[in-house]
Amino acid sequence: MKPFAYVNPANEKDAVAALGKEHEKVLPIGGGQDLLARMKDYVTQPDRLVNVKNLDATVTRANGGLKIGSAMKMVDVAEHPDIGRMYPAVAAAAIEVGTPQIRNQGTVGGNINQRPRCWYFRNEEFVCYKKGGNRCFSPEGENQFHAIFGSGPSYIVHPSSLAVPFVAYDATFRLLGPRGERMVKAADYFTMPTKENVERENVLEPDELLTHVILPAPGTLKSGHYEVRYKASHDWPIAFATVLLEMNGSTAQSARVVMGAVAPVPWRSKDAEQALAGKPITAETAAAAAEAALKGAEPLSQNGYKVQVAKTAVERAILQAAGLAIT
Ligand SMILES: Cc1cc2nc3c(=O)[nH]c(=O)nc-3n(C[C@H](O)[C@H](O)[C@H](O)COP(=O)(O)OP(=O)(O)OC[C@H]3O[C@@H](n4cnc5c(N)ncnc54)[C@H](O)[C@@H]3O)c2cc1C
Repeated sequence: MKPFAYVNPANEKDAVAALGKEHEKVLPIGGGQDLLARMKDYVTQPDRLVNVKNLDATVTRANGGLKIGSAMKMVDVAEHPDIGRMYPAVAAAAIEVGTPQIRNQGTVGGNINQRPRCWYFRNEEFVCYKKGGNRCFSPEGENQFHAIFGSGPSYIVHPSSLAVPFVAYDATFRLLGPRGERMVKAADYFTMPTKENVERENVLEPDELLTHVILPAPGTLKSGHYEVRYKASHDWPIAFATVLLEMNGSTAQSARVVMGAVAPVPWRSKDAEQALAGKPITAETAAAAAEAALKGAEPLSQNGYKVQVAKTAVERAILQAAGLAIT
C-alpha cells in the first residue's frame, strides 16, 4: 500500500476543511470496508485519508420523517426501531448487507459512496474507463454480474444496497463542502456513465461530504424489498428490488418500483409503476408489472439470466408490499 497521511477531525466542519479538490487524492474514510481494499489492491492511491466516523451517527426526527447521520453503522440502521417501523425496506436492505462484521464497520456514507465491485475496475492491470482508460472490458469479457440496463459506456452495476430504498422513499442527501451545504435528491445523486463523466458514480465533489440522509414522512406507504443472491451471506445481490405501494383496500393507488444491481444507478421503472397504479394487487398484476419492469433490458453476452432474476425480485417485492403470499 502506498503511504498516506491520516487526519482525524472532530466534526463535519473540520472534516470538510481537510478535503481537497482532486478526484480520489484526498478521501473520506468511514468503516474502510471498501476503501482499504481498493488501496491494498492499488486501485485507489490517495495521499490523505480524512476520518469521517466522528460525523453524526444518530437518527433524529425531521418533519414527520427521519434524518440519518452518515456515520451511522449499517448494523444500527438495521436494528433501529424507528427505521424498521417507518422505512422497513431500508432496514431490510441494511440487514442483508455483506456479513455481520461488514455491517458492524460499514457506515451509511461509505455504503452509498462505495465504488463499483466490477472485477476489471478492482484489478490494477485493467485500466478501464473508470480509471482514466478508454474502454470498458466487460462487454467482450466476463460480464455475468454486469448491467442489463443503461447501454454503457461503462457496464458497472451500482453496488449500494441502501441506495435503492433511499431512491424509492425519495430521500434527500445533505452534502457539505467549502461552499456550504446543498440538498440533493437521492434519485439525482447517482449518475449514469457518459463519455464525459465516466469516472464517477455520483454528483459529490471531491471537497464535499455526504453528512445526512433525510427521509420524508412515510405516510401510509406499504413496502416490499426482495434480494436474490447466490449465497445467503458474504455476497452482493444478483438483482433486487424495493417496491412501495399506496394502497386503497386491495388496490394500488400509486407505486414506486426501483431495482438494484441491474444498472450503474438504482433503476426506477415507471413502466412497472404504471402497470400497478389503479389496479388490484394480485399474483397476475404483480407478474405483469415485473414483466413491464424488465422491458427494454439489454443483457450482455453472459448475463441474460439476470433479466429473469430481476423480474422475480420485482414480482416478489410487489407481493410482499401488498401483504400477499410469495408462491
Ligand atoms: C464480502 C462483501 C459483501 C458485501 N455485500 C454488500 C451488499 O450486499 N450490499 C452493499 O451495499 N454492500 C456490500 N458490501 C460493501 C460494503 O457494504 C461497503 O464496502 C461498506 O458499506 C462501505 O462502508 P464503509 O463505511 O466501510 O466505507 P469506506 O470504505 O470507508 O468508504 C467507501 C467510499 O465512500 C467514501 N465515503 C465514505 N464516507 C463518506 C461520506 N460521509 N461522504 C462521502 N464519501 C464518503 C470513501 O471515500 C470511499 O470512497 C460488501 C462487502 C464485502 C467485502
